[in-house]
Order: sequence, then C-alpha cells, then structure tokens
Amino acid sequence: MTGEQESLKKQVVASIDAQRQALIDLSLRIHANPEEGFQEEQASGWLCAYLEEQGFAVERNYCDLATAFLASTGNERPRIALLAEYDALPGLGHACGHNLIAAMSVGAATAAKSIVDATGGSIAVIGTPAEEVYGGKAIMAERGAFKGLDAAMMVHPGSRNSVLTGALACTTLYVEYFGREAHAASRPEQGINALDALLLAFNAVAALRQHIRDSARVHGIITHGGDAPNVVPGHTTAVFLVRAADEAYLEEMKQRTLACFQAGAEATGARLEYRWDEVQYAPLHTNVPLAEAFRRNLTALGRVVEDPPSSRAMGSTDVGNVSMLVPTIHPSIAVAPRETSIHTPEFARLAASKEGHAALIDAAKALAMTAVDLLVDDDLRKKTAAAFAAERF
Ligand SMILES: [Zn+2]
Ligand SMILES: [Zn+2]
Repeated sequence: MTGEQESLKKQVVASIDAQRQALIDLSLRIHANPEEGFQEEQASGWLCAYLEEQGFAVERNYCDLATAFLASTGNERPRIALLAEYDALPGLGHACGHNLIAAMSVGAATAAKSIVDATGGSIAVIGTPAEEVYGGKAIMAERGAFKGLDAAMMVHPGSRNSVLTGALACTTLYVEYFGREAHAASRPEQGINALDALLLAFNAVAALRQHIRDSARVHGIITHGGDAPNVVPGHTTAVFLVRAADEAYLEEMKQRTLACFQAGAEATGARLEYRWDEVQYAPLHTNVPLAEAFRRNLTALGRVVEDPPSSRAMGSTDVGNVSMLVPTIHPSIAVAPRETSIHTPEFARLAASKEGHAALIDAAKALAMTAVDLLVDDDLRKKTAAAFAAERF
C-alpha cells in the first residue's frame, strides 16, 4: 500500500468516527420506525436528508420507485456505488438489520466523498427499497439503475464476519386451488376439497426434498386454508419459495415443484391456478479481488474474518441481480453470536444493540477503505474488472 493510500484510509476512518453518533441515531430512528417494502417513506427521507446535508446531489423517486433514490457526487471513473437497504419484515420489524445497512452505506459514502476531490472518481449511494419481499434491485436493474458502475458494495449484518458470501437464486410461486363447497358432514360427497389438494402438494414437496441438491430449497405457507370447519374448503391459496445455487437448477426445481401442485389437483379434482413471480432473484456472484480488498480492510480494523463452508446458511438477495451487472461484494459482519438466525425477534433486538452499533461503524470504515483502494489502486481496479469479465454471465 502506498503512503497516499494509507493516509487516505486514515482520513476516511476519521470521517466515520466523526459521524459515529449521527450514523447510530440514523440507524436507531429507522429501527424504531420499521416500514415494509416500497413503503419506506420515512427511512428514505431521512437518508436523503442526511446525504443532501453532506453535499450529495440527491435524486428521489429513482427508477420511478417512490422510496428509491440516487445520491451522487463526482462524475468521473471509477464510479463506486454503496447500496442501501432499509425495508423491514412484516410483523418482525428490523429483524434483518437493514437499518444498519442503510447507515453503513451512507457513512461510508460520506467518508469517501471527502477524498474524491483529491483522487477523482465518483461515489454514489443507491437507495434500494423492498429487498425482502419484492426484489427492488431486480426491478431497478431492469430499469438501468446500475449502469456504468465500476463496483457496487454493501455489507449485511449476520452472525459472522465473512467476505466470500454466496446467495441462492430464488423465485416465488403463488398457487390457488378451486374445489367445490359442500356441507362437510351432511353432503361431503358433493364437495371437492381444495385444502386436501394443498396438503397433498405439501406432502409431495416434502418427498421431493430428499432428492434434490443440498443447496436447493423449497418452502412455503398456506395463506388461505378455508373458511369454516363445517364447509368443505372450496378455495385455498399458498405461497412457495423455490431456491437453487444456479439458474439452470432453479429451472429444474421450478418444474419439479410445480409437479407437486399438479399432483394435488389430479388427486382431488380441484383446479390448480398458479403464477410465478415476474421478479426472480439471481444467485450472488461475489467479486473475489474486491472481496479480498475488503477482507484486508476489515481485518486491519481488528475483526477476525472467516468464510463459512459454501452452500451453508445461504439465503437469497436481490444483490444477486446487481452482481450479474457490476463487480459486487456483499460481505457479512457479525452483530450476533454464531448460529443466530436473521429474521428472528432476537436479531431485531441485536440490530439496535451495542454490537449492532459496533458493526455499523466497522463496516462503514471497511467499505470506505475499500472505496479508497478502488479510487487509487489501478491494479485492484484491473483485477476486479478482469474477474467480473471472466464470469461471463
Ligand atoms: Zn432478510
Ligand atoms: Zn437482509
């Protein structure tokens, strides 16, 4: 590392330290006011206001999405984007810690802004709503939100510090069965049981699970199971998620899962209607040279980084869709004891805890330091671009 690089890193770290309380306040405010996907009006408003105050040019309603935004400064290459998420989970609040993600990315971008005048290049925060349910980034990717970027970065809170993270391709299946109502005791022979169709499908899916690849997942819930116990259910609905490590296997999983639902219809005589969500989450491709730069920076801050064995504890993220277009990293930072699951009340509590604040500050610093690397290290930029090109999506 050159002396210049080192002193710029000290500068961005000092900037994060100076913003410390403001970033924690921002994170806690978002945490205390959880808003679900595409309703994050307060969160996106607070983030835009913070960035405007720091001198970023802010475009609200980015990509025609009311709670998306683009905050940018500079217009030269390299163009570096920090992604911000800020949606909460239905019923669980900030159980995925997106309040921390938003504050990390805003803090890192503000720190990096303080040096782009000297280094050239440009820094943006892209506010990406509705990660949890609708795949906001997938929609934004189609609308060109990530064009012309040299790198996209964000850090997700979790139960370990790791940089070579993966995520599964994922899609959503909506199913409905239409049977025929009848009195469940006096005229059951006249009924066609739409709930039985659904339960048979659940059992078929359970049998399918034994014969799929370890990394693939299929799971779902019944969203309407009937109206009264003395009426043969004439209409039922369910939502399923189907996931796989790559898009080819996801296609196979989709067909095999659908066959389970067709079997339920066949067995009961109920009619099946189904719809695959138009938004599909792509698998996450981590850019290795960029991830290694991030690893060095996070380690320098005193965190022990360890990557989990692949195919374990993987969810899905719409950052995958960004990673198909731009060299991307999505490291994890520990805010919780090992094996703690995100999407739990316990994790929601940790997202507003001292551990959460410490992770916010460390992640913001490591992101800003990695931005410094990209801004001044030509070799890293070349390696990052070459690794991305070699993936050939
Ligand atoms: Zn989540
Ligand atoms: Zn999340």
